[in-house]
Amino acid sequence: MTTPPGKLYVVATPIGNLGDMTFRAVATLKEVGLIAAEDTRHVKMLLQHYGISNKLVSLHQHNEDKASQMLLDKLREGLSIALVSDAGTPLLSDPGMPLVKLVKDAGLDVVPIPGACALITALSAAGLPVSQFTFEGFAPRTSSARKAFFSESALSPVTWVIYESSHRILACLQDMAAVLPLDREIVIARELTKLHETIVKTTLANAVELVGNDENMRKGEFVVIVDGAVLEKTEQEVTPEQLKVLSILLKECPLKTAVALAVEITGGRKKLLYQAALDMQDAE
Ligand code: SAM
Repeated sequence: MTTPPGKLYVVATPIGNLGDMTFRAVATLKEVGLIAAEDTRHVKMLLQHYGISNKLVSLHQHNEDKASQMLLDKLREGLSIALVSDAGTPLLSDPGMPLVKLVKDAGLDVVPIPGACALITALSAAGLPVSQFTFEGFAPRTSSARKAFFSESALSPVTWVIYESSHRILACLQDMAAVLPLDREIVIARELTKLHETIVKTTLANAVELVGNDENMRKGEFVVIVDGAVLEKTEQEVTPEQLKVLSILLKECPLKTAVALAVEITGGRKKLLYQAALDMQDAE
């Protein structure tokens, strides 16, 4: 009799408050044969807290491809494996995507064990529209790249979200203020679920001032949420010809590229074509 393959469990862990670990996450981490972790020392402390002892192997951005192949071999041998990152949900600005893809492509089971995620936690308390949103991950590191990136994001008609670190939060907001309208509403969600949790909803201008003037507002981990751009009523017309070009391009390239090319080909307005592209994707 051949041994059935093991399953890969993608397990979310807390983003600060240890009370946010789920019962199912604890049970899974106890039951699997092996835990693949971004930082094994960090995860050891987490496991100790929940009384879990299990074998650990490291899977981080520098060894992902090699480690993923080794883990797939182990799954094929029948071992079940849990994937965890340092905080929150793996793959969300964290390692794990190559492993999950490899395992799915091999036809084996990938089981999500949901839990904390800074992005969703921040959105749930932000008070900005969330029926549609764009997650942009970490903003670029250099000021010029950030400004270019924000100029593009500024046109998004839906809420957009970035992750940011304490080192760059002020520079990031200043660059945002250089290219976005200063009255745009933004939410700064800092140290979520932790002792100094702060969630401020204000204008971009006030946010720069607040973070610039208060040293504590530059400490910890950040999610920044920006309201979408409001489209003028008089501009809300996309011609059938533009829609046709856009729909052809959307079949061949990612949304941003398709919109950029459609603007170039048809001379249409970028934010209108962007919204039309989002509508088309939703309608699929
Ligand atoms: N996978 C994680 C998740 O599910 O949210 C995120 C990992 S990413 C490497 C780390 C970034 O997420 C931080 O730099 C910060 O931007 C954001 N983050 C994580 N924990 C946070 C918290 N407690 N409060 C605010 N932002 C947090």
